[in-house]
Amino acid sequence: MRTRGAVIAEVPGRLEVIDLEVDEPRADELEVKVVASGMCHSDDHHATGDSHVGILPFAMGHEGAGIVTRLGGPNTKGIKEGDHVVFNPLPSCGHCRRCATGHQNLCDLGAGVLVGARWRDPSSYRLHTVDGRPVGQMCGISTFASTTLVSIESVVKIPDDIPLDKACLVGCGVSTGWGSAVTMAEVQPGHTVVVMGTGGVGVNAVQGAVHAGAAHIIGVDPAEFKRQAALEFGATHAVATMDEAAELARQFTNGQGADAVVVTVGVLQPDYVAQALGALGKGGICVVTAVGNEKSVGVPIRMTELTFSQKQLRGTVFGGTNGNWDVLRLLDLYRAGRLKLDELITRTYTLDEIQKGYDDLLSDQLVRGVVLHD
Ligand SMILES: [Zn+2]
Ligand SMILES: [Zn+2]
Repeated sequence: MRTRGAVIAEVPGRLEVIDLEVDEPRADELEVKVVASGMCHSDDHHATGDSHVGILPFAMGHEGAGIVTRLGGPNTKGIKEGDHVVFNPLPSCGHCRRCATGHQNLCDLGAGVLVGARWRDPSSYRLHTVDGRPVGQMCGISTFASTTLVSIESVVKIPDDIPLDKACLVGCGVSTGWGSAVTMAEVQPGHTVVVMGTGGVGVNAVQGAVHAGAAHIIGVDPAEFKRQAALEFGATHAVATMDEAAELARQFTNGQGADAVVVTVGVLQPDYVAQALGALGKGGICVVTAVGNEKSVGVPIRMTELTFSQKQLRGTVFGGTNGNWDVLRLLDLYRAGRLKLDELITRTYTLDEIQKGYDDLLSDQLVRGVVLHD
């Protein structure tokens, strides 16, 4: 079938909306009408070339929700036509070592998410241009296409009563931020937490720290608009620099420093990791969630900080999220009024306005922008 979607055709490049041909669903695949797609910063990292993709054109978007329109066949998840789903940006097979031990975000299928092809048939693509050239799929889902074709391993069925334009946010930004604080930083009641960068992922790290019972949550962002957002999502303090945040954290901890620092800046730089580690107290955990240039190496840290202060430096992809469970529990928290989703959406865009949306994101005007497909 024919659809439209936003792709990058060159790197560095900008998003452009083109016609796409969607393949026939195979036995383990679903065709989904995408209703809404959040605009995550990661897509821009691929457009700039910070991290590379397997093929061009590449159909972007990895945070979405929609309605199943066709099935390739009966499936193990029992998904039917008409079911509402949130897309998992990292697929989960359910039986590899990582899935089997509660780390679905590290599923072996993740190796294929930036290749763009079917993971079990890497020479075959689910999307094509109208003249027959293969089009890669961001995370195997390409949620900036109005209709997409995905593996059953890339969806979580959700209850029908959750509005899809809100549910889509749980696909990446909310679960990544929330999981970075709750799962990866192991925030405990009474902790002092610093969240470095309070955009669409960082404010959800703030929400996670609230849920985990942190006593002091310090949001750090040079943009006044994002400091305000941090406070609205539960930060107890919001400052412009890490120096101020580190000073506050020491005040709250009898001079020791933060229990956790979550790094959720827009573009990761090695210096930021050093600053984050410096703000920690003994035994603290620094979680690096942000993405920077894949070629960048070297963090200027004193090695003894790791040893003698027993500080931990942890990277995370997707906030350590187990999509099949975390998506559902986050939506339950939303339904119970305990997780803010509506407030995350600064502005909505049509598909044709998508590059404008990214321009707004990169000029610090958005917590989250959402594309609403027709
Ligand atoms: Zn994302
Ligand atoms: Zn797996």
